[in-house]
Parts: sequence; structure tokens; C-alpha cells
Amino acid sequence: MNESTFSTNSFSAPLPWQLDQWSQLSRAFAAGQMAHAYLLAGSEGLGKSLFAESFARTMLCLKPTTKEVAGKEVRVSCGECANCQKGGAGNHPDIVQIEVEEGSKNIKIDQIRWLSEFVIRSSHSGAAKVAIIQDAHLLNGNAANALLKTLEEPNKQTHLLLVSDHPGRLVATVRSRCQKLNFQTPKASVAKDWLEAILGGSNIEALLEASEMRPLTALRLAGGDWMEGRAQFLQGICDMKLGKKSTQQALALTPKIGESDVLLHLSAFLSKLIKYCLTGSELRDDDPAFEGLYTLLKPSNDKQITQSIASSLALFYSEVELARKQLASASNPNPQLIMESILWRWSQLELS
Ligand SMILES: [Zn+2]
Repeated sequence: MNESTFSTNSFSAPLPWQLDQWSQLSRAFAAGQMAHAYLLAGSEGLGKSLFAESFARTMLCLKPTTKEVAGKEVRVSCGECANCQKGGAGNHPDIVQIEVEEGSKNIKIDQIRWLSEFVIRSSHSGAAKVAIIQDAHLLNGNAANALLKTLEEPNKQTHLLLVSDHPGRLVATVRSRCQKLNFQTPKASVAKDWLEAILGGSNIEALLEASEMRPLTALRLAGGDWMEGRAQFLQGICDMKLGKKSTQQALALTPKIGESDVLLHLSAFLSKLIKYCLTGSELRDDDPAFEGLYTLLKPSNDKQITQSIASSLALFYSEVELARKQLASASNPNPQLIMESILWRWSQLELS
């Protein structure tokens, strides 16, 4: 199963790490006190979009029921009534989604005008209406202004769920008119149990580490040939250190897994090495992809040497983190250039 099949109609309950947010909205909805607009904020891969879709269906369900999720009873949609059927098929007229259109980089004003019409018209089912705005930080200036008007003139029956991985990039005036729902990365055990139930036992730890404990990102990585690409890349930068590969050859291995994932691995790997240098913690790993890299680090009894290695690793780590930020930034980053400079820095790093 991958993320896309996971997001299909069968799914209408919160994910195990979303219970607080779900309960908060459920209580407000039951009391007729839902805010006009919510901002579902948190990093990518936490299932915020799935949450919005599931909650929208639950709001419209004619016969809501309860379900146990991670030991808690939660109110969910029945999955069977007329509203659930239409909602599950993605064609309920009272649930709409706005997202960046194909070939575009932003959400445009025409889309928000269309949304404004949806907000003022009456509900087909007589129940609530919900509009979900995916990647709300990608609203362009005009679209954000148009949305502001809609937010200023709420329609009691209609609720807006704005979803964003980068809430800080959303225009402040829009942000301040939404009630914020923060989503956090789950505890390791929660994420692990959830992934294991879907994928079985293989590579769960590596996936969670590489995804920085973001379960849906881990699920995406599990699909395709990502694991293999990752192993090749890690071996590639190991070979680079041993003089068996050039920077260009290692660089050529990055497109297969993508620059941001490559930086994620480097970052995870470096933090392990730093911990090892500082605490002498065991450098053992069940993940064979790291084995070659670990052999590069020669243990030393000289505390000064170890500390000096740790400092240069920490400096490099901060550069990798900065590169990750640059890659994810809204300005136009140059991935090739960023990767070249990071790999060059790696080649210069003293590890013994
Ligand atoms: Zn239903």
C-alpha cells in the first residue's frame, strides 16, 4: 500500500497521532461552536490533508458512529450513508478542495472567486459545507486578498480548512483569521506501530529515521526504489571518501532519490556520528546502508582528536541543515549547486 491508495475513500478516522486535534474539532462541532476557518499546520508527512478530508466527511455524515483509534473512542463517519458515499467518491457538492492546479506554482484568484461562490450558496444536503485549501501557503497575493474577504464575512454553515506545511509563509492577515490546529510528529512507538501494520516489518527504523518520524513521508519512501537509491548514494559518498568515486560520480546518484532526501540522509547520518564522538555510544546499526560509512570513522583514544572531529562534524551538520532550508525555501534554489557544495564539503571533512 502506498500513500495514494491510503488516502482513498475507505479512510475516515484520525491517524493515531491526531487524536487531540480530532477531539478538539469534534467537541466544537458537536457544540455548534466550530470556527469559520482553521489552519491545519505542521510539517509535511503528518497526514494533515487526510485529517481534513476525513473530518469533512464526518461533519456531513448522516449516521456518525464511533471507532477505537489508539485506545480512544472517536467519532467518525459511518462510511455508508448517502453523504459518506458521495464524500468518499470525492464528488459531494458540499465538500470542495482547492489546490494548486497542474502546471501552476500558486493558488490563483479565480480559484478563490469560485470558492467565495461556494461559501455563499446554500448547502445541497442541508448539513454543513466544507472547503479544504491544500498548501494554503501557496496562495498568491491576489488570491490571499480575495480569501481575506471571504474570511471576513463568514457563512455560518460553511467551514474552511486550510492545510499548510509552511504556515509561516501564509499572509499574516489570513493566518490571524484562522484558528490554528498544530500537528506534531508522533512518538517513535506510535509511528512504528502504525507503519508496521501497513508495511510489515521491513526497514521501518530506517524509514522513520530518514523521514524524521513523519509517518506518511516514511510511507512514500517505502514505495518505489527509494531504499535501493538510498543505499547506492550512501555507498557513493563512502567511496568518495575512500577515493574510489569523484564528487561528480556521487552527485550523479542523487536524482534517483531527490536532493532533499539525500540531505535528510546526510543529516541523520551526521547526527549519529556526532553522538558517537561525544558520548562514545555504540555505532552499531541494523541498517546495512550505513555500515560502510561507519568504517570511515576511526575511533581514537585521544579526547582532543575526537572532540575536534565532533566539532567539524557539527559544523558540517549545520551546513547540511541550512542547505535543506534553502532547498525548501520559496525562492528559487539551485539544487545542483547546493548539492555540489555540500558534497565538496564532505570530501574535505577530516574524519580521523
Ligand atoms: Zn455517513
